[in-house]
Amino acid sequence: MKVNHHALELEQNYLFSEVAKRIRAFQAENTGKELLKLSIGDVTRPLAKIITDEMKAAAEDMSHAETFHGYGAEQGEAFLRDAVAAYYKKHGIEIDAADIFISDGAKCDLGNLCDLFDADNTVLLPNPVYPVYYDTSIMAGRRVVFSAGTKENGFLPMPDDSVSADIIYLCSPNNPTGAVYSREQLAEWVAYAKRQNALILFDAAYESYIRDPKLPHSIYEIPGAETCALEINSLSKMAGFTGVRCGWTVVPRTLQFDGASLHDMWFRRMATKYNGTSYIIQRAAAKVFTDEGQIAVHKDIDYYMENARILKDALNQAGINSVGGENAPYVWMECPDNADSWAYFDRLLHTYGIAGTPGVGFGTAGQGWLRFSSFGTRETVEKAAAFLAKQ
Ligand SMILES: *Cc1c(COP(=O)(O)O)cnc(C)c1O
Repeated sequence: MKVNHHALELEQNYLFSEVAKRIRAFQAENTGKELLKLSIGDVTRPLAKIITDEMKAAAEDMSHAETFHGYGAEQGEAFLRDAVAAYYKKHGIEIDAADIFISDGAKCDLGNLCDLFDADNTVLLPNPVYPVYYDTSIMAGRRVVFSAGTKENGFLPMPDDSVSADIIYLCSPNNPTGAVYSREQLAEWVAYAKRQNALILFDAAYESYIRDPKLPHSIYEIPGAETCALEINSLSKMAGFTGVRCGWTVVPRTLQFDGASLHDMWFRRMATKYNGTSYIIQRAAAKVFTDEGQIAVHKDIDYYMENARILKDALNQAGINSVGGENAPYVWMECPDNADSWAYFDRLLHTYGIAGTPGVGFGTAGQGWLRFSSFGTRETVEKAAAFLAKQ
């Protein structure tokens, strides 16, 4: 028996374990001192009641022969795919429900999509990057090249024709930087992908945090994207579904590569290795897309975005440079005094009890930057902001 040697090439998940280790050490040395945790990458607000009520109603349906549901439709229930298509339509985007595949989340889809692509492909990743894109590419044995985010480009790297790529990952609004591509910038990526005959994997997990009406919510707002991009999204950040699990991927039938239909390949892959998202969860997910569901989830999104505003204001008061936080729940700050990411992380932790996430953990281009998440409580954010403003 031989193992997948590429799986052994993964680096240990140094970032989050090292952050946790340093926080534990801080707490052991400073008993009673409050930890202000801005390193959290998970939502904290409970699910809206209309969503959990719908789960209960769906669970009740499962206990009666007349309304019981066994295996569901292969791409997900039609009522949910229609609700997702209608959601796109509200943003003026035409997506056929037949091109939507319901799943148990974006991370799973990002990993599973690797089944469709040959190992002999070059993957272009932004740097800094959401670690899932990198790790899944390495596990699949692909070559990886990077496009650096910098202070100058606002952490929105743009295509470079001297770099060839077959698969391009874009995340906008971005984790970890909170930066968001404009429509014109995405149009440049689409044009580049077409010149390269490359596929864009567009991660829109934070689109519901966009405030600026000019910013695009979907790659399909760009003409031509339907022939070079697929889009991954999830209810994790939109509706607090990180522990519930429901996402979707749009694979247009217009996507043809290497003489094959990616839609047909993904359909076959899902039918072979997945038996569907829980019926109960799909009912709850459909509720999210109703008018009352959207009002309820946007209350929590507004709460997180107010946290981001408070953090951003504090940094502005202290004269510290940052990006993000305006259309995304992450604030990406430049460490003062040219400190490196870990040195500044330690300084904030030991001086104020504030825990961020060192930017360098997301890639070399994150050196000298720190990520704050706005997923904490208002109380924590206000205490941390008071320290940050007068540091
Ligand atoms: C949180 C997050 C997701 C969502 O992942 P799920 O598996 O749906 O919970 C996707 N992409 C990015 C960049 C994220 O930060």
